[in-house]
Amino acid sequence: MNILVINCGSSSLKYQLLNMDNEAQLAQGLVERIGIEGSRLKQETEKFGKKVIEVDMKDHKEALGHVLDALKNEEYGAIKSFDEIHAVGHRVVHAGEKYSSSVVVSDEVIKALEECIELAPLHNPPNLIGIKAIEELLPSVKNVAVFDTAFHQTMPKSSYIYPLPYEFYEKYAVRRYGFHGTSHRYVVARAAEMLEKDVKDLKIISCHLGNGSSLCAVKNGKVLDTSMGFTPLEGLAMGTRCGDIDPAIITFLMKKENLDAEAMDKVMNKQSGVLGISGVSSDFRDIENAAAEGNERAELALNIFDNRVRKYIGAYAAEMGGVDVIIFTAGVGENSISNRESISKGLEFLGLEFDTEKNNVRGKEAIISKEGSKVTALVIPTNEELMIARDTLELVK
Ligand code: ADP
Repeated sequence: MNILVINCGSSSLKYQLLNMDNEAQLAQGLVERIGIEGSRLKQETEKFGKKVIEVDMKDHKEALGHVLDALKNEEYGAIKSFDEIHAVGHRVVHAGEKYSSSVVVSDEVIKALEECIELAPLHNPPNLIGIKAIEELLPSVKNVAVFDTAFHQTMPKSSYIYPLPYEFYEKYAVRRYGFHGTSHRYVVARAAEMLEKDVKDLKIISCHLGNGSSLCAVKNGKVLDTSMGFTPLEGLAMGTRCGDIDPAIITFLMKKENLDAEAMDKVMNKQSGVLGISGVSSDFRDIENAAAEGNERAELALNIFDNRVRKYIGAYAAEMGGVDVIIFTAGVGENSISNRESISKGLEFLGLEFDTEKNNVRGKEAIISKEGSKVTALVIPTNEELMIARDTLELVK
């Protein structure tokens, strides 16, 4: 059974076609600059390699039309007919409190997701456009929605209620939701497999460190806490997001700099984090290079980033009453040797014996703690697409 996985962003669209008989990737692609001049589609197939198609695409529906054509193209595609796409899995960012697992899309699901737009105004609309476009383009195929928030729905109230007047939770659903759930779920399951243990017997801290970063405490297979909150702005210092700050800074700066809510939002989401501190870049490779050349603010940005990850690891170990496994994943977690070392070096007191030699890996699964270490540290490349395809298969087969 072939499953198409679609991840629609505001102006981009990522896709993968997977043969779920053996979980092989038949094609993967990216459409960029949707609705902007110079849009293009890049596709890579197992059979024909890479292909770039430059064509104007005014919206996501048009983009998905080109994706389907590219998949079926005789010279660089992966299938001969659309009948070879048996189901489509969609990444959807926010399901509010409505869904704690993936669902087959129905009118009722679409309505529920439309009600969540207020909670994820940048993400849910393109996700929904993707679902509706596939419903039109491939009417006989089932769509499945897989939510970033779903995995975190097991959190207890003591983790998700903010110390604000309770009425704001009741009136506006202001609470912690958490994001990157599909990634955390994938690496947590994979960690248990790698260690040949039942996830129900483990206390795991999953560190998804990328452009956006979040930590997740998983005790006995259930999420106990996670660092992103009502929106993906809370928690760690990120590429361009500030994460936790004293909330009073917001009103202080709005008054001082004469910023309205939208402008302040932009400062916190787009101009802060390691970019804001370093003034160099939001890309950790650039920052690491600048720090190596003696740029003090770049070094400060890395120290702040690492320190905050460590702080959350400590907090989550305290919340869970210990930790057995720490997982590093996503762009930085999978690839940055120095970053993992710097975070882990402060964690000996928890029982982590870090192995600098084993840590010398990028982008592949590895155990990076010493044999016999009380806490096992792992690198696990995330694979949200595979998780979405697995959920889709499970729901449609
Ligand atoms: P997202 O999906 O949130 O956009 P990714 O998980 O792809 O982000 O992570 C992107 C980040 O990973 C970038 O900041 C990039 O610098 C970082 N990254 C990728 N490769 C490396 C590397 N070799 N060393 C350090 N950082 C890296």
